[in-house]
Amino acid sequence: MPTVEPPSAERKSAISQALSEVGAAVRRSQHKDGAFAEARLVAVSKYKPASDILAAYDAGQRHFGENYVQELCDKAAVLPADIEWHFIGRLQSNKCKALAAIPNLWAVETIESAEKAHKLNAAWHGACNQRPLNVFVQVNTSGEANKGGIEPHQVEDVVQDILNSCPALHLQGLMTIGSIAGSQQRPNPDFCTLAELRNGLRQKIGVELELSMGMSDDFEHALELGATSVRVGSRIFGTRPQKESIAPAAP
Ligand SMILES: *Cc1c(COP(=O)(O)O)cnc(C)c1O
Repeated sequence: MPTVEPPSAERKSAISQALSEVGAAVRRSQHKDGAFAEARLVAVSKYKPASDILAAYDAGQRHFGENYVQELCDKAAVLPADIEWHFIGRLQSNKCKALAAIPNLWAVETIESAEKAHKLNAAWHGACNQRPLNVFVQVNTSGEANKGGIEPHQVEDVVQDILNSCPALHLQGLMTIGSIAGSQQRPNPDFCTLAELRNGLRQKIGVELELSMGMSDDFEHALELGATSVRVGSRIFGTRPQKESIAPAAP
């Protein structure tokens, strides 16, 4: 296995400090009566070097999120095999095979159509993985045209489709990014929409689903509204280059 340049002592201590603060905030804010014992912190490492990920790994972090397939493949190849990777970028059908070739891919959080679920199901099956791949259905809770995810009214159909015809996938939950306007309101209407959808599905078809919502600026609020998994980047690793937007459009 190729080696990763080790992080500098300063970088290592900055990341482990930030991580322990975010971890403490997660434990403080998490919803107490949920079906999931402990909320998961996914450290979003896009654009950050492998050495930063190693610094967080050495501090005990195992779940990491990446937005770009090639970047994820490159990092997964050189970083420890017990990292649990989350793909959180826009999913393109022609990239499913490359994703499925990552043996320690833990989840794809951005399923936005039954068609893509089927593609991923076939790819994961074809890669002969012994366990099912966890997936989250991404919901466009804010109705913005440029946001990924499916409309709330289509969620039940896609969920049923995954449950009924994607045996290589395990439906883990629902995910949303939400709008900037929504993130300035309390409660955040996008997070409320996702929680209501989850509650409806629990009643209607008896599935217990996680909620992946909340980022650096609002993960504590998301946890209060029932998030079981939060995706935090800049609060752990510092700011990223400006050119990047939160939900990158397909190139
Ligand atoms: C980049 C990104 C995050 C992390 O954003 P921060 O504001 O840096 O915490 C979370 N979720 C998704 C989908 C992202 O693309």
